[in-house]
Amino acid sequence: MTTNNYDYDYLIIGSGFGGSVSACRLTEKGYSVAVMEMGRRWEAKDFAKNNWNTRRWIWRPGMKLFGYFNMRFFRHVTIICGNAVGGGSITYANTLLVPPEHIWDEGTWADAADWKNEMPQHYAKAERMLGVTDNKIFGPADHMLKKMGEAVGVGHTFKPTRVATFFPPEGEEGGKTYPDPYFNGEGPDRGTCTACGGCMTGCKHNAKNTLDKNYLYFAEKNGAKVYEETKVVDVKPLNGKADGSDGYEVTTECSSSWFNKQRRTWRVRNVIFSASSLGTQEMLFRLKQSGSLPNISDDLGNRVRTNAESILGVRFFGKDVDM
Ligand SMILES: Cc1cc2nc3c(=O)[nH]c(=O)nc-3n(C[C@H](O)[C@H](O)[C@H](O)COP(=O)(O)OP(=O)(O)OC[C@H]3O[C@@H](n4cnc5c(N)ncnc54)[C@H](O)[C@@H]3O)c2cc1C
Repeated sequence: MTTNNYDYDYLIIGSGFGGSVSACRLTEKGYSVAVMEMGRRWEAKDFAKNNWNTRRWIWRPGMKLFGYFNMRFFRHVTIICGNAVGGGSITYANTLLVPPEHIWDEGTWADAADWKNEMPQHYAKAERMLGVTDNKIFGPADHMLKKMGEAVGVGHTFKPTRVATFFPPEGEEGGKTYPDPYFNGEGPDRGTCTACGGCMTGCKHNAKNTLDKNYLYFAEKNGAKVYEETKVVDVKPLNGKADGSDGYEVTTECSSSWFNKQRRTWRVRNVIFSASSLGTQEMLFRLKQSGSLPNISDDLGNRVRTNAESILGVRFFGKDVDM
């Protein structure tokens, strides 16, 4: 379906959840797709032993730190995010919860669609693609959490987390390699979880179902080209047609080099912004202010929410148990 005078039908900015799903589905429909990702590509063997190795953990190219985890500090909020091929999936905690029904009655989205009927099928499909299952290995921290719940009278609320992890078959140790267990053998080989607790520092056992093992894997298999360490810095409508009806010119630079920026332009029919909430908004503000995309709504940046999560630290005084 590639067309004359265009490098790609779709150029996708960011290879995280939004970008990988888009790439997978668009290539299935026969479109030519490029995915621009400013982070690096990581494999199980590349992850550092722990996150004291900041050079291989933190993403801050200006300081020569080329990891996959990023922290951005603002006046009222600190944002943590992933920068890598596979986006946040490389460093995220791997727990995938389906929200309770009442969520669809709240917030600015409440009246936009019949969410209660529409969403379950999409969650079911995403769970299948990501191999979401109940956590099957209970470690000391799980047992302690259960005990604490019981102690304060809420023991009945304890349940295994839903995680995108490949667990060993019952009675087997983790750390073994199996042919693709999820996609009738069409996907990559997978390793089984060893319960090492390293999901957020990068899974060294190939057991975490990161996007490069499902959506992005199939996108690439279907012909999508992923350009790693490639940052999108400008997007302009072609021929001055602000509605984008002639497509766009996209400019990229090498994200990991200070001097040799390898600036390049691409002519594409469509652009998908999936550079995470922060990355996309940052880019859209810049493109609006620079005049590259002047028609972006003045509403940009309003009604932005965090994911309303609380991260709690708990001190445990037991000496003999490694939590
Ligand atoms: C430590 C941590 C733990 C988390 N745990 C969970 C969890 O357990 N469960 C859960 O549901 N969610 C979790 N999250 C949140 C989840 O990872 C994000 O909600 C999700 O990754 C967002 O998907 P996205 O597609 O919007 O963006 P991302 O997955 O962040 O992908 C965006 C990609 O765009 C790239 N990019 C940005 N700007 C540019 C540019 N200009 N040019 C090229 N590329 C660019 C980035 O490098 C990044 O790889 C966690 C996040 C973190 C950081």
